[in-house]
Amino acid sequence: MLLDPSGAARLHHHMASALVVGGGFAGLESAIQLRQAGIEVTLVSNRPFLFVYPTSIWVVTGEKPFPEVCLDLRDVARRHAFQFVEWPVEELSGARRSATIAGREVSADHLVVALGGTPLRPKGVEHTHGISGDPQGSLRMKAALEALVARGSGRIAMGFGGNPADPSAVRGGPAFELMFNVDTLLRRRGLRDRFQLTFFAPMASPGERMGRRAAGAIRTMLGRLGIAMRFGTRIDGFDAAGVLFEGGARLDADLVMFLPAGEGHPVVRASDLPRNAAGFVTVDAGCAVPGFPGVWAVGDSAALEGPAWRAKQGHLAEVMARVTASNVAAAVADRPERASYLPHVGITCLLDTGNGAAYVHRDDETERMIPLPVVGHWMKKGWGAYFKASKRKLVPRLPGL
Ligand SMILES: Cc1cc2nc3c(=O)[nH]c(=O)nc-3n(C[C@H](O)[C@H](O)[C@H](O)COP(=O)(O)OP(=O)(O)OC[C@H]3O[C@@H](n4cnc5c(N)ncnc54)[C@H](O)[C@@H]3O)c2cc1C
Repeated sequence: MLLDPSGAARLHHHMASALVVGGGFAGLESAIQLRQAGIEVTLVSNRPFLFVYPTSIWVVTGEKPFPEVCLDLRDVARRHAFQFVEWPVEELSGARRSATIAGREVSADHLVVALGGTPLRPKGVEHTHGISGDPQGSLRMKAALEALVARGSGRIAMGFGGNPADPSAVRGGPAFELMFNVDTLLRRRGLRDRFQLTFFAPMASPGERMGRRAAGAIRTMLGRLGIAMRFGTRIDGFDAAGVLFEGGARLDADLVMFLPAGEGHPVVRASDLPRNAAGFVTVDAGCAVPGFPGVWAVGDSAALEGPAWRAKQGHLAEVMARVTASNVAAAVADRPERASYLPHVGITCLLDTGNGAAYVHRDDETERMIPLPVVGHWMKKGWGAYFKASKRKLVPRLPGL
């Protein structure tokens, strides 16, 4: 690991320096944009790749090999001329704008916190499969699904949970996507009538953050596909045989996929940074951490402000990264202007079904859901390829994408 060849614990440079921790959507885009703004950048992440979560549902269904959902950070760092260090960050200090890596404290002029969140762990969650957090989870679920399909029949339950301490840290969209993709897979194999599928969530109307129309359309589609629904009852936990609900009810299943809501990253929660009730870093509209000059938090690790239906998403993580880079550049040049992420808070996604998709968009003024049979599936696949190629500078960046 080479952080500072001089051996000093500080990143000394002739230009302003930034230490970005976390190599996901937020951290990588921060590193790229800060570098473009003329800042010397070191990106530290605990794995050598960015995991492209939005296309990871197809690892589970076997439509994409795992490496295709990974973006090599070392390669991207070389192309954008920043330093990449693969190592877990052990501690953060806002007061010292530093991160502890391999027992050594490293600081910079600017510290950008982009460690994401961490999934909550309800009782018995080890009996479920998850596709958030650990990327290897998608491979484990693929193996379990293949084994069940090979058996020829079974019961599959999929769902997601919430975090009342910060309702924006929820992952409903991917849970619906995976359920629709598994339904499509079983139909293609001629096995759908031999599998019982159930979708569960504690909310009375899951998916409502995407808008009332979208939630209604999703319910209609689940019903049309013969997928049972268990909504509106608190999830107490899981056991080896299925899902346990408040009041003693249960849902037996051979395979359970559960996407828990998130909470603050443990390294963030152990730090001196200000946090909301769920442990996400408090930031102002410009992604600056109040009371800690030169410290910024972006993406899932930050406590989002905005409308009640706001949700943590990859595209918003990238918006926050661009806002941060612009504000760091302004601060370095002693210019007073500050960009804000708040006007960009919205929900945008292509909700994939395996044989099509729906374009979902919500902002302050509009709620849209446009069905895109067949073509939507290929559009989402195209986005995945574009995302990786644009980060590798093989194709130009399209505005807003
Ligand atoms: C299955 C799934 C599908 C999704 N689909 C969509 C979608 O279609 N559209 C959309 O906009 N959003 C989608 N999302 C949400 C989106 O993926 C997240 O909002 C986004 O990943 C947030 O980016 P981030 O960089 O803030 O956090 P993360 O992506 O979580 O990145 C955090 C990074 O920090 C690194 N890290 C963690 N701990 C340490 C440590 N101690 N030291 C160093 N590094 C560390 C991790 O390796 C990781 O790379 C989806 C999420 C999931 C799980």
